[in-house]
Amino acid sequence: MGKIVGIDLGTTNSLVAIMEGKEVKVISNKHGSNLTPSVVGFTDKGERLVGQLAKRQAIVNPKNTVYSIKRFIGRRRHEVTEEEKMFPYEVVGGPDEPAKVRIRDKMLTPQEISAMVLTDLKETAEAYLGEKVTEAVITCPAYFNEAQREATKEAGRIAGFDVKRVFPEPTAAALAFGANRKKGLQKIAVYDLGGGTFDISILEIDNEVIQVLSVNGNTHLGGDDFDQRLMNHVIDEFKKEHRIDLRKDARALQRLKEACERAKCDLSSMQETEINLPYIAGQDLHLTVKITRAQLERLIGDLIESSLKPCEKALADAKVQAKDIEEVVLVGGSTRIPMVQRVVREFFGKEPNRSVNPDEAVAIGAAIQAAILSGDAKEILLLDVNPLSLGLKVEGGLFVPLISRNSAIPTEKKQVFSTATDNQPAVTIEVFQGERPMAEDNRKLGQFDLEDIPPAPRGVPKIEVTFALDANGILSVKAKDLGTTKEKQLTIKGTTGLSEDEIKRKVKEAEEYGEKDRQRKDLAEARNQADHALYAIEKFLRESGEKLSSDDRKKIEGAVERLRKAKEKDDVAEIKRAMDEVATAPHEFSRKLYEQAAAQAKTETKPDGEGPEKGKKEGEKIIDADFETK
Ligand code: AMP
Repeated sequence: MGKIVGIDLGTTNSLVAIMEGKEVKVISNKHGSNLTPSVVGFTDKGERLVGQLAKRQAIVNPKNTVYSIKRFIGRRRHEVTEEEKMFPYEVVGGPDEPAKVRIRDKMLTPQEISAMVLTDLKETAEAYLGEKVTEAVITCPAYFNEAQREATKEAGRIAGFDVKRVFPEPTAAALAFGANRKKGLQKIAVYDLGGGTFDISILEIDNEVIQVLSVNGNTHLGGDDFDQRLMNHVIDEFKKEHRIDLRKDARALQRLKEACERAKCDLSSMQETEINLPYIAGQDLHLTVKITRAQLERLIGDLIESSLKPCEKALADAKVQAKDIEEVVLVGGSTRIPMVQRVVREFFGKEPNRSVNPDEAVAIGAAIQAAILSGDAKEILLLDVNPLSLGLKVEGGLFVPLISRNSAIPTEKKQVFSTATDNQPAVTIEVFQGERPMAEDNRKLGQFDLEDIPPAPRGVPKIEVTFALDANGILSVKAKDLGTTKEKQLTIKGTTGLSEDEIKRKVKEAEEYGEKDRQRKDLAEARNQADHALYAIEKFLRESGEKLSSDDRKKIEGAVERLRKAKEKDDVAEIKRAMDEVATAPHEFSRKLYEQAAAQAKTETKPDGEGPEKGKKEGEKIIDADFETK
């Protein structure tokens, strides 16, 4: 029998995962990313694009690019009148008929569109496993009715899967959080706020048996709605200033949607950001709107608060009080919003558990369920976990966890880092353990140097760092220069030998310092970004400075100087402002950048994916490490 894969078929993104031995592997797609956007695009030439490629061309092909199709699956037209208005593609069908999407002269069911995403995930899994994959566990919101579940199953069948189970997302999440690995009886709440749906579930776990006591939620609430609110705000501001209604321009709306989503995500880690869309309405009309976290909270606060009513109902249905809930786990990309965490914390009276990546928890749980169904999962239920995050110190003194707290062990994680200065001949790998965002607040476990890095500009050398933690808590850290293949290794014992009290204290400490730590992290990140911006603009001035008029040059130099000064201060907003100035001044410079980017986007949307960046994997993140020059 082949392997059964676990699939999280999400509103915004979908993932595929598989159990390998004792570990769950979330499989990266051909672009190097674990998340495949649940987006399907149909080009003029009749080609079909799925995932990243579809998302990238959405901007130039809004009417024929379908996203958030999960909002329509298994639903009749009259049930989705509100949703229809949110998307540029055309939804058709009589009021009592199943909703469909019209792409030119073709009608497609949401099942068929979802099947295209599922087929892509199937190919991802097959490429990784080197064999055909025909069986899957696919998750859906607990709130889905029978028609929606059946339609999800049908999507799987169209994609060529024998769907072993349509599995509730919260149960999957509970499995991923290892709820079934704890001893005894406990009640947990899974708060899942994704792109399109909100689910709250109260579960009871008795050793290895997980039972759903109640579910509630709102199939009309998620990150898409937050984006929409922010878009409305920005459109209104623009209209006030220029008397132009961007709602009538599909192209502008698509660009705006992406920019608003990005801004919303930025505001989860920063206090302020700017939406900047040059040439949004033809010739010389640019859109520039500053937005703070507090403003965003005012715009979406009522939506977030509205998630509490279903929480109350779910508790009442389960005959449980908030104080009886031992663990609240957060799932779904939108739970990264600080206000969501705050509202949940206040409601349940305890810090929510965020130990599993909120994007991956459901897929991981689906893979565990798949392994349980195929009889492969006995061992994992008794697995040990890594008690505190293990990671590295990088640029700005930040701590980057490679193996996060509560990961099942043994496990191995890799990440590529780079140098922080030009011609840096060596890097220092400093290993830390803990939950605080600044490395120095965590426990240092050891360090070593990797030398003889050939001279190169900062950011160019690729140093691959591997953390391998075995079942006995022995950590081996390896750093390898991917250019020269030179490598060095360090072994650290006793990473798991911490007392229960010590672990609790560390976690509590991280919670107590939460807000202060976040501020320090924001500042360190802003300074890092400022460094990068300064480096890039200095390079630009060196290489193309003479092409600028002396006025433009002076403007840029002035902006650079202000950024340099701002970087020395402790004010994140000021650094951001100065950075924006560097990025946008003078106008001529930003226009050139934009034109270049647009030209590049055009080449990148070639259906065969042969853009200029072909060699670079999407999602491949290279982090500048705080590696001192030797
Ligand atoms: P999911 O359906 O779980 O994939 O969640 C996707 C939603 O999470 C989208 O609306 C994203 O914009 C949102 N999201 C992802 N990361 C963040 C973030 N850092 N801050 C706020 N929202 C986020």
